Amino acid sequence: MKKTALITGISGQDGAYLAKFLLKKNYNIIGTDRRSSRDDKWRLRYLQIENHLVIEDMDLLDITQIIRIFEKYKINEVYNLGAQSFVASSFNNPISTTDVTALGCLRLLEVIRNKNKKIKFYQASSSEMYGDVLKIPQDEKTPFNPRSPYAVSKLYSHFITKNYREAYNIYAVSGICFNHESPLRGEEFITRKITSNLAKIENGSVDFFELGNLESRRDWGYAGDFVEAMWKTLQQKKPEDYVISTGKSYSVKEFIDEAVKYLSFPVQWYGEGIRRVLINKKNNKIIIKINKKYFRPTEVDLLIGNSNKLRKKTKWKPKINFKELVKIMMLSDLKKFKN
Ligand code: NDP
Ligand code: GDP
Repeated sequence: MKKTALITGISGQDGAYLAKFLLKKNYNIIGTDRRSSRDDKWRLRYLQIENHLVIEDMDLLDITQIIRIFEKYKINEVYNLGAQSFVASSFNNPISTTDVTALGCLRLLEVIRNKNKKIKFYQASSSEMYGDVLKIPQDEKTPFNPRSPYAVSKLYSHFITKNYREAYNIYAVSGICFNHESPLRGEEFITRKITSNLAKIENGSVDFFELGNLESRRDWGYAGDFVEAMWKTLQQKKPEDYVISTGKSYSVKEFIDEAVKYLSFPVQWYGEGIRRVLINKKNNKIIIKINKKYFRPTEVDLLIGNSNKLRKKTKWKPKINFKELVKIMMLSDLKKFKN
């Protein structure tokens, strides 16, 4: 029998890749979206799946909308990807971030508990929960030490997922994803901010752009690989929590150094700290500057995940490495922003 998956956050990066992956596995997809006046289907169009799934209005803030969807469809698996997912915004909007990112998860779990405890539930947890890390690398047993309202909200949803699993015997999994990127990543996140702006500099529409802390390190994987891992965590005998990561970590500066290899001109760094700049050597113009406004009140300096548990139990491993990821993103943006 064909399974039905409900994906919250269908308009986001992971929602699009996961829907594409599950369609190939012959699932019916119900993607949920909050109403917006902006074009929120561009990622589904990019992956050519817009007409292969059902989109329903469902705001994670509104439990009546959630109940209505669960009454309308016979759902087998829920992937809760919907969230206010940008760390920097969570400092400016801590209350709305908490309402969506923490309580949104609880609202879904409450509806599952009351309507059908057989529905499997995946919670999109985050490596940001490790924050000021207490162990290197981080695995499922590493204590959490969150450093932003976003991370604290994700920690709530992680633990409420575990609690509903233990209290009500619901097949509920928390997948602790390290950063994962793609050409479909939002342009406010550092990787896409770098690749899209470099491509705009290449085409002449932008002169320079500004960044914050270049020293922080992230374990960057490819979103297409990570959605496969999400699905695998829901196909195991027992529900458990899993770290999803590549196991390699690079600094923001290293990401830039890899990305600039795809430009048509040579570049050179000058200066240190807040005065550091990246220069186009062909015309001696600055293309990257540092601006304090992009530093966070509390930073997460280093994330690197140990996903051995997932690899051992599910045979998952990432197919795209760091250099390939940067290449995919740069070539995509150079094409997208070509004159
Ligand atoms: P995106 O920011 O691209 O997508 C987030 C989605 O959540 C969007 O579809 C957004 O809709 C939706 N959303 C926001 N607010 C609400 C709301 N009130 N009700 C319903 N939906 C809402 O994130 P990603 O796809 O990159 O990430 C997917 C999930 O994984 C998120 O929960 C994220 O926090 C988590 N995660 C992501 C990581 C990554 O590196 N990508 C790492 C670890 C965890 P809209 O378009 O309307 O804003
Ligand atoms: P995060 O790990 O979920 O916060 O993902 P981001 O892509 O938003 O940020 C990754 C890292 O890049 C963080 O340590 C940021 O402080 C750092 N960073 C430096 N400059 C910028 C910037 O201009 N924008 C963003 N988004 N991050 C930046």
